[in-house]
Amino acid sequence: MIYAKKSLGQNFLIDKKILEKIVNTTTIKDKVILEIGPGTGNLTSYILKKKPKKIFVIEKDNELSSSLENKFYNQITIINKDVLKVDETKLFDEQVTVFGNLPYNISTEILSKWIINLKDNFWFECLVLMFQKEVADRIIAEFDTSDYGRLSIICNWKLNIKKICDIEPEAFFPKPKIHSSLLLFHPKKNFVKINDPNNLEKVTRIFFNQRRKMLKKPFNQLFNGDQKVLDKLKIDLNLRPQNLNLETYYKLAYEYENLRG
Ligand code: SAM
Repeated sequence: MIYAKKSLGQNFLIDKKILEKIVNTTTIKDKVILEIGPGTGNLTSYILKKKPKKIFVIEKDNELSSSLENKFYNQITIINKDVLKVDETKLFDEQVTVFGNLPYNISTEILSKWIINLKDNFWFECLVLMFQKEVADRIIAEFDTSDYGRLSIICNWKLNIKKICDIEPEAFFPKPKIHSSLLLFHPKKNFVKINDPNNLEKVTRIFFNQRRKMLKKPFNQLFNGDQKVLDKLKIDLNLRPQNLNLETYYKLAYEYENLRG
């Protein structure tokens, strides 16, 4: 008998319609699949039915990893590690499709790690990931809304993101207190080239540090009031951080990087 561990965000997906929907989100046949946090293997079984070329799973829980070993034997490759400590870019020699009903307590950390470490040759073809709805809403938020912020800007830099559906707590066991959302991510062909993603992190951190205040203070802190940057990007310093669209933040990070040489 497996007991769900709260500390590892274990809420297992049991709704067959949702499991079916997840595996129908993208092509699986003959693809290399990576599943994050397979848990008891419910989603893994649905993925296997679609005949992938190979499945790798990363599961931190030792007990669950052994039971997956017994359940699937040699049909899957189990990596019994913390996903935050795995370098996925070194695991595969072809692009993979990633599935994950992510542990909610570290979902944004996992996604940020992938985005920050992304080289231009993406190691994945697409990501099909489940998040707490509130987090998903922040990821896909449009500018001029209260959900818009650092997470939206960082996630949308190199990825196109689409919401597939919301999922009720009843789809899981144990039933969580929150709603969930399934998102689909595809690499963008064109994006603003920022060599060091830490510059985008820094620019967004300083701008959103005081999200209700006008842009003047954070702009001066980063650009020392540089009028050329203001004119080039057509920024009105009387606006608030949430009023600048995604592209403006990427261009600001680009200008900031150039300024620092
Ligand atoms: N995919 C399964 C399902 O849908 O039924 C389980 C999803 S459950 C929300 C999250 C899973 O991620 C659990 O199996 C948990 O043990 C695993 N997990 C939690 N933290 C992890 C980490 N740092 N690295 C890898 N797996 C982790």
